[in-house]
Amino acid sequence: MERTLFEEDHEQFRDLAREFNQREVAPGYPAWEADHRMPRRLWKAAGEQGLLGLAVPEEFGGAGIPDYRYRVVLDEEFARANHLAVALAFHLHDDMVLPHLLAYGSQDLKERWLPQMVSGDKVTSVAWTEPGAGSDLRGIRTRAVRTGDGDWLLNGQKTFIGNGITGDAALVLARTDGGTGRGGSRSFSMFMVEKTTGYSTGRQLEKMGLNASDTAELFFDNVVVPAGNLVGEEGRGLEYAAGQLPQGRLAIAVASSAVARTVYEATAAYTAERGAFGARISDFQNTRFELADILTEIEVTESYVDSAVQAFNAGTLDAVSAAKAKLWASERAKSVTDRCLQLHGGYGYIMEYPVAQAFLAARLLTIFGGTSEIMREVIGRSITPPLPQHGKQNP
Ligand SMILES: Cc1cc2nc3c(=O)[nH]c(=O)nc-3n(C[C@H](O)[C@H](O)[C@H](O)COP(=O)(O)OP(=O)(O)OC[C@H]3O[C@@H](n4cnc5c(N)ncnc54)[C@H](O)[C@@H]3O)c2cc1C
Repeated sequence: MERTLFEEDHEQFRDLAREFNQREVAPGYPAWEADHRMPRRLWKAAGEQGLLGLAVPEEFGGAGIPDYRYRVVLDEEFARANHLAVALAFHLHDDMVLPHLLAYGSQDLKERWLPQMVSGDKVTSVAWTEPGAGSDLRGIRTRAVRTGDGDWLLNGQKTFIGNGITGDAALVLARTDGGTGRGGSRSFSMFMVEKTTGYSTGRQLEKMGLNASDTAELFFDNVVVPAGNLVGEEGRGLEYAAGQLPQGRLAIAVASSAVARTVYEATAAYTAERGAFGARISDFQNTRFELADILTEIEVTESYVDSAVQAFNAGTLDAVSAAKAKLWASERAKSVTDRCLQLHGGYGYIMEYPVAQAFLAARLLTIFGGTSEIMREVIGRSITPPLPQHGKQNP
């Protein structure tokens, strides 16, 4: 089925994104994978090209275009070029940090951070997960305590933080009610914590895929966070995180759908060229049935995800629909990359083949940004709300 999501302007933006991939990303990408990080000049180049922070209002240096379809185009082009680590790095900056600053940040925070995030001069990360708390953010132990002059003293540890090494600041969730044990809905606050204030990065974590983006531990040891770096109001961190989750989950659904489409197209082409038993691999009924199933799944997925994008643009994408989009699309990406790898035979296991890299990248999609099990919890609770005494609270 032909997609009707895009208009002429989006296709022009696609040309720009494709050209950016060829010029700025492709030449260095293999080296960045080996180095386990991408250079800062890539961020600057993306900023100059107008690829970062499109939704940021013009008064803060952005294009003032909240139309999410441009982000979809960008993700599709990163997937097509097999530059998924760049998509991940930009996602954290653009789909996670920016929306929180836009929605809840003070005028001062916006003036200090948004223009530099749009230009690519500053790179940001999201620091919510901890060694002991991922799905259950109420288990966060990083603490912020007010000092006498109104600033905050931050202590704790985060892990799995994308852009943690290369980033200039982290959007941190920390406990601020002084309590111990599992926190309540008003126990946590959100802070924009700048690297210059002295937090340290620990090990760069060795991932199974997406290696051109860095993922690290962060340590906060008596870090003084200025009062003005509190995002929004004290005690509302979890509420803010929950408020912006639909965008983060939609973004992962979009990337998942794009990965599945890209790998399917590569596999259809590969099996039409590769021969065995005097025929093409694509001539075997098993291959045709697999590709038929995969293409059908992809088109149905695109249809739901495109509707979710339109709902997001209209301001009506709810948390449950975003969870459905993320659950469905990421599970499809995992399954499609696995089946396409199988259709490549031994070459599918060789890293120089895009399907091998996509298979490893796709494995993350059902885990980060909320696991598939948590998505099912969110959806399930909308069907049968839990009884009060059984109410678990995963944000
Ligand atoms: C490469 C990578 C990049 C990441 N980037 C970031 C980042 O930039 N910033 C950040 O803050 N975090 C990041 N994360 C963290 C990611 O969001 C978490 O790993 C994820 O939310 C799961 O948390 P966890 O690892 O603690 O797993 P756990 O919460 O320990 O879950 C373990 C298993 O238990 C299941 N489970 C948990 N609770 C329930 C439940 N109620 N019902 C049923 N099953 C349940 C889970 O689904 C999972 O299968 C990243 C992770 C990875 C691997």
